[in-house]
Amino acid sequence: MTEHFSSPQWVDLVRGLLSEDRKTEMDQHLRAGCEECREAFAAWSGFATFAEAEPGFEPPREAAWLSAVMTEDGIKPATRTADRHSRPSSEPQG
Ligand SMILES: [Zn+2]
Repeated sequence: MTEHFSSPQWVDLVRGLLSEDRKTEMDQHLRAGCEECREAFAAWSGFATFAEAEPGFEPPREAAWLSAVMTEDGIKPATRTADRHSRPSSEPQG
């Protein structure tokens, strides 16, 4: 089994929204030694901790930031910055 789980699935897992069957499945995947998913799970575990503190908090399932936090570097904290200005980085200034 080489299939990985996606971020929304880990979110559901840490929030306790999944069935026992699915939880077992994902747990076994971690035990199989998948470093990638282990990191994702760890990251979302921390994420859920503060999510629980927010009544009625619902992470946008298919929002861009959800997948944006998953980088090749590893997982970065999901900061909701408004820094989305288009900067012409390749164009010479002046
Ligand atoms: Zn995996």
